[in-house]
Amino acid sequence: MPELPEVEFCRRALSRWTQGRTITQVEIADPRVVRDSRTARPSAGSALAAECLRHVARHPIGLDRVGKRILWRFEAGSLLLHLGMTGRWTRGPSAFPKVRLHLDSGDVLTFHDPRLLGGIVPFEDGRAAHAAFTADLGPDALLASLPRLTGKRAVKLVLMDQTVVAGLGNVQAMEALWRAGIHPLRQADSIDAVEHVRLSDAVKRQLLGTLTMLGEGDEVVYVEERGAPNPFPLYQRAGERCPQCAPAGRTSLIQHFRQGGRGTWWCPGCQGEPPRVAADTG
Ligand SMILES: [Zn+2]
Repeated sequence: MPELPEVEFCRRALSRWTQGRTITQVEIADPRVVRDSRTARPSAGSALAAECLRHVARHPIGLDRVGKRILWRFEAGSLLLHLGMTGRWTRGPSAFPKVRLHLDSGDVLTFHDPRLLGGIVPFEDGRAAHAAFTADLGPDALLASLPRLTGKRAVKLVLMDQTVVAGLGNVQAMEALWRAGIHPLRQADSIDAVEHVRLSDAVKRQLLGTLTMLGEGDEVVYVEERGAPNPFPLYQRAGERCPQCAPAGRTSLIQHFRQGGRGTWWCPGCQGEPPRVAADTG
């Protein structure tokens, strides 16, 4: 599922494709993805929202991102874009579109979302758009410094809590903890000042590394999709030798367990044994 780097990839692609362009036609093939509000039930599209989208999506100004949300600003309003689990924007002809935007260049931009957990929320009012864009989100994981992590919950779950820090999902959080040498089951408030600096740095390196890996193309593949290539050193590599340990002469094998319903991979050589005081993993 898309995390901060994949959403930033999308923001950059939409910005590149629409720079100096006008949208000449909005085709809504599946109205369920166009919603009245950010908190509307997924797939609860509305005719009013569809009308608003047609009115707003004309002269693009620019795109902002906080965490996994994009705000696309237009002369007549804004669009709040969500990718959810399977949403993506592409350029060029494609099957099973939800929404198509035709540009004056002849290009066609398509929004796909088989699971319907993403969507588009149009706003004519700029203040309402900005409020929805930032509601219930902590500081952006890439652009802001990592806030102090508190509480008895496991540090990985706190990193994935969008109200604490926005943009990290399962893969980015676990890979960052591995880079920082912190066990994912540590209680958040057990992270000391030195570890916090290391983790903050690891989060930035992790996100920038993934962004670099995604490159500047038109298509992005989500690693959790069936059959997708796995470019990550830790994710889904249980039993393999840890590439971070090898240069230090250790031969640690990557381990796996379930945490908060999601798979977690970790290395005992880099991250130590599980803490004796168990964190809350719910
Ligand atoms: Zn290791």
